[in-house]
Amino acid sequence: MRTDETLATDSIPPGAIYRRLGVEPIVNGRSTFTILGGSLMPPQVLEAMRQAASCFVDLTELQEAVGRRLAELTRNEAAFVSGGAAAGLFLSAAACMARDTDDGVLRLADRQRYPRDFVIHRAHRIPYDAVVELAGGRLVEIGPVAGARAGDAGDGVARSAGPETEQELERAIGPGTAAILYVPKPHLAGEVLPLPTLVDAARRHDVPVVVDAAAQLPPRENLWRFTQDGADLVLFSGGKALCGPASTGLVLGRAAYVRRVAANAAPLHRPGRPMKVGKEDMIGLLAAVEWYLAQDEAAESRRFEAMVDHLVRWGHTRDDVTVTSEPYGEAGQPTPRAHIQLSRAEPSYRDALLAALRASPPRIDLLADDDVGFYVAPETLLQGEEVVIAERLAAELDRDVAELTNTALVSGGNAAE
Ligand SMILES: *Cc1c(COP(=O)(O)O)cnc(C)c1O
Repeated sequence: MRTDETLATDSIPPGAIYRRLGVEPIVNGRSTFTILGGSLMPPQVLEAMRQAASCFVDLTELQEAVGRRLAELTRNEAAFVSGGAAAGLFLSAAACMARDTDDGVLRLADRQRYPRDFVIHRAHRIPYDAVVELAGGRLVEIGPVAGARAGDAGDGVARSAGPETEQELERAIGPGTAAILYVPKPHLAGEVLPLPTLVDAARRHDVPVVVDAAAQLPPRENLWRFTQDGADLVLFSGGKALCGPASTGLVLGRAAYVRRVAANAAPLHRPGRPMKVGKEDMIGLLAAVEWYLAQDEAAESRRFEAMVDHLVRWGHTRDDVTVTSEPYGEAGQPTPRAHIQLSRAEPSYRDALLAALRASPPRIDLLADDDVGFYVAPETLLQGEEVVIAERLAAELDRDVAELTNTALVSGGNAAE
């Protein structure tokens, strides 16, 4: 997220560097989506990266030193900076498949010979799990079909799967199992077994548990909670709530597995070499984690609530919208957001409205819900942008419907994720 400080240190108007290329910046009310740039780095992170760019270092030495500090800060045995959480998932898959080899390196030509099944709940299938297959792994599904879809509001409550799923889990684990993969997104929950149940089964069969928690911040305690619950490797995005470089990911967990993650990664000529991180990325992510842990979570929460409240109060002044505050963010994390419902409850009108908001400056990007409304997420908004959004929304809602729909057609509709 961008802070006022970011603006204050800038003598050049924000966005000028993009406008020069004809690319108009966007007010991001969608949340930390990669397609919009993830998050905005605070000045401390940018300054650390600038300093990191001023000389050469040995990247292996640096990765080890940064890892030690990150492990300390996040109360984990070990840590590693990957080229994004998805790269962390790829490296974790490689580490788990090659876990019984001496050096822990996945040799792609030998992929068939490793344990390569990754047990995953059907409700936890995500677009990013394709990197498991990229490493040569196979996804073995258990549990009922997902009830909730990504982007769904959900109720933030994970429903526990029944004993049939536990039996399925037992049947799924065998000599061919590389790991159990868990995605703690409460809104994706459908019906899944709780993490401790998976850890328990994994321990009995001596297989590791990998948790993809890319977007599960806040709360900050998640940085140590999943490993304390027994996960062997846990992945976070550097470019989401942590506000680090968008090209980074945080791999946390047990030393033996983090060592194998590193063995498969750049700067070595290993399977993870195409997902390299630079010295500025490593230092940037470290500065981001330091910055993130120094922020007062309660104050942050109040700032988000104040933005949502502004939109709720704005909603009270109009009879064509109903604005409510929702306690959960896009990834199910406990970050409030505004939910906006339209009296003209038609998907085509909602789509036209969102497309019009995106079409002309100040361009605003918001997330549609699964029905005929949409959300405004505060965590990626600059202070005051909630006012800009309310004003822009009012102007678009006051427009003639035919005219609005025409704008939407010309601009090509609302962008996907
Ligand atoms: C965002 C996300 C990723 C990808 O993270 P990157 O840091 O962009 O690679 C992976 N898994 C989940 C569950 C995510 O939400």
